[in-house]
Amino acid sequence: MPMVENVRADRRRQVPRTDTLLADPQLAEAAERLGRELVKATVQRVQQRIREGAVLPAAAVDAVLAVLPATASSLRPVLNATGVLVHTNLGRAPLSAAAVAAVAAASGTTDVELDLATGRRGPRGEAALAALLAAVPAAEAALVVNNCAAALALVATTLGGELVIARGELVEIGDGFRIPELLGATGARLREVGTTNRVTLGDYRDALHAETGAVLKVHPSNFVVRGFTRAVPIAELAAGLAGRGVPLVADVGSGLLRPHPALPDEPDLQTTLADGADLVLASGDKLLGGPQAGIVLGRADLVQRLRRHPLYRALRVDKTTLAALEATLRGPVPPVPQMLAADVAGLRRRAEALAARLAAAGLDAVAVDSEARVGGGGAPEHPLPSAAVSLPEAFADPLRAGTRPVVGYRAGDRTLLDLRSVPPAADGELAAAVLEVAARWT
Ligand SMILES: *Cc1c(COP(=O)(O)O)cnc(C)c1O
Repeated sequence: MPMVENVRADRRRQVPRTDTLLADPQLAEAAERLGRELVKATVQRVQQRIREGAVLPAAAVDAVLAVLPATASSLRPVLNATGVLVHTNLGRAPLSAAAVAAVAAASGTTDVELDLATGRRGPRGEAALAALLAAVPAAEAALVVNNCAAALALVATTLGGELVIARGELVEIGDGFRIPELLGATGARLREVGTTNRVTLGDYRDALHAETGAVLKVHPSNFVVRGFTRAVPIAELAAGLAGRGVPLVADVGSGLLRPHPALPDEPDLQTTLADGADLVLASGDKLLGGPQAGIVLGRADLVQRLRRHPLYRALRVDKTTLAALEATLRGPVPPVPQMLAADVAGLRRRAEALAARLAAAGLDAVAVDSEARVGGGGAPEHPLPSAAVSLPEAFADPLRAGTRPVVGYRAGDRTLLDLRSVPPAADGELAAAVLEVAARWT
């Protein structure tokens, strides 16, 4: 037998058997936690690596343990160093520790729709709705659905007839999601008013007729129109519609509860209602910093109509969303608002400390000033001053593919890791991920 085949045959004989490996106490424990099929598939991958000579037979168990996922889901935690605070591809808002704990506590059987004092059926998610009303006192009633798109679909289905909307607000939010197409899909008709750049109160008023279901205002959350422009502010529109019996619905998108000093152009729920909107709609996982959800706040009779519509049943949220939302509103300030409020001096100190640590290990790392963004449909063109660690460009791909994935961004021939979107407690992990990539090259 030629020598190469000899070596291969030898290796085949040495590959530990699947049953033997699965009986190993550590792998048996992993199978309890992750499921036998997942561990078995990983064992088979490692056996193949042994046949290829890439892993020593004696190291089989360790090799399996090294590549087993931490949970039975393949979704992995990623460090967001893009500087985009609400990154849709990275799951938008990271939940607060309080919200994560609330999700875990509500994950089993829980009193989401049962009054434990009386043993009777209770209103679903009452505490989360109460937390919303406490946070936005201008609202009479609240409802939570799957996301803001669901809130729009429910409003259009329940109130349309015809929805009056400004031409300049027929927006595409992202990834082909076009608000007019969503509204149209519900069977509601759209009555476009004004032009791309200008709309007046008169345009809205002229469009009203017996079949008008609502006037809809959509915040252009991912672009700005400059120059010869005019929109009708909520207060003016509300005053101009008074007595016409047509509800004014405002989709504000980002879910800010109150005005934010760093984001002067971003509408908020409290002010929009106080200015006279009958309903406001927003996402839970943007600037509010909570779980994916569509938040509806406003007039009690309208909220009640939405809740009674059969479609609501198809759009309602589960117990873990309600738990996370309540904890986001009642608990400590969640990560996204914290990141938004972080002062740039503190970010620079973190960038300098990290760069110094990496430079001490021989890496070409420096602290630089950068610009972060809200992202996810919020405050377009509004840069947030930030600080980043700058590394050679070659770091970008391996950092993303590492054991603890880090997503930064390229700027010229450098990879920047922006710290405004990284929780301060994760700086150590960030450094470790960079050092691990560097170690593979030396
Ligand atoms: C983001 C956004 C939406 C969509 O929200 P989802 O919660 O992702 O469905 C709708 N309208 C506006 C104005 C937005 O900014």
